[in-house]
Amino acid sequence: MRKITQSRKLAGVRYDVRGPILQEAERLEREGHQILKLNIGNPAPFGFEAPPEILEELRRVLPEAQGYTDSRGILPAREAVSRYYAAEGIAGIGPDDVFLGNGVSELISLVLQALVDVGDEILVPSPDYPLWTAQVTLSGGSAVHYPCDESNGWMPDLEAIERLITPATKGIVLINPNNPTGGVYSAELVRGFAALAERHGIVLMADEIYERILFDDAVHEHAAAHVNETLCLTFSGLSKAQRVAGYRSGWVAVSGDRSRAHDFLEGLTLLANMRMCANAPAQHAIPIALDPASNWSGIAELCAPGGRLREQRDVAHRLLTEIPGVSCVMPGGAMYLFPRLDPERFPIEDDQAFVIDLLRATRVLVTNGRGFNLATPDHLRFVTLPSVPVLTEAIGRIAEYLDRVRVA
Ligand code: PLP
Repeated sequence: MRKITQSRKLAGVRYDVRGPILQEAERLEREGHQILKLNIGNPAPFGFEAPPEILEELRRVLPEAQGYTDSRGILPAREAVSRYYAAEGIAGIGPDDVFLGNGVSELISLVLQALVDVGDEILVPSPDYPLWTAQVTLSGGSAVHYPCDESNGWMPDLEAIERLITPATKGIVLINPNNPTGGVYSAELVRGFAALAERHGIVLMADEIYERILFDDAVHEHAAAHVNETLCLTFSGLSKAQRVAGYRSGWVAVSGDRSRAHDFLEGLTLLANMRMCANAPAQHAIPIALDPASNWSGIAELCAPGGRLREQRDVAHRLLTEIPGVSCVMPGGAMYLFPRLDPERFPIEDDQAFVIDLLRATRVLVTNGRGFNLATPDHLRFVTLPSVPVLTEAIGRIAEYLDRVRVA
């Protein structure tokens, strides 16, 4: 009988964050080992409680949120998103410009399926949150990676990006603050992205899911504030700042010049219709989360001096950079560290195999840098969500392991 094979569309599609490394961790857990997991940016298991006002609203709304909703999402939530951007100084995003989804993940898929044809190119940062590259590939397009410069705080170079633009380029992805690097882009850089997209008439896709997770004096600049002459799509949601990743609640807001984009927007609406709607109860959390009275669910306090996220970032960064041969750009935002292992001292060829060996030896789970479409096998990604004692234990074990495998 014929083999049941996966579709050819999946050739080249990778998502290592939940790939073979996680499978190995699960196998070790089944054998009875306890694994310290520093691999997924999922706040709830690390003791970050959902904001009480969101929990309360979900409990209240459950009986009345049983049916499908409008495919774009319930009007009060889309109005709340529209009001939010207006308050942030971005005019012209009405409720009908907003699509709610089962997390930003679903919306990335819908947008790229609606936008990308075989042969189209989308500029994606390297390193990136790998869903972007995976979904561009699944859509039949090519992800063309633009480098972010570690020696310059992981900032992208706009001139280098411009050189990658070809007649096949249809869009550019900006992840700010960035996962995995934690880079937060200056207003000047964000304006530069907007101007570049406008000059070439390509779609600017701004993934701003970490917009409220900022440290020190970092300030987040919305890309949409600077895009007038081409289409801008802004993605955000409740998974990170509100810490309710499991509710699957996010949005994409359409702004800028829609005059050339009717066809694409019709396609996006068709795909949104085909999946009925986003999880209805979680849509009701959006107006609560975006109500100025909710104070963004206390995220600023968690990121301020003395706040849990800030302290964990600082401790993990200090412990990692104390390890000989390890360096790490201090992240200005998000919930990750992306340290570099000096290739002279750690001559790693296959970073996935390295991370699996590390896991077997230390019972600590991290993700390899190439899983984020980095070109070189010399980085690891750490999630800074665990408590200080857990981070200290995990990084201590890693430091011992690195002492054993270091060559010089
Ligand atoms: N975009 C980035 C940059 C992320 O890091 C993540 C999750 O880690 C997502 C999007 C997906 O978020 P959601 O839970 O809204 O699907």
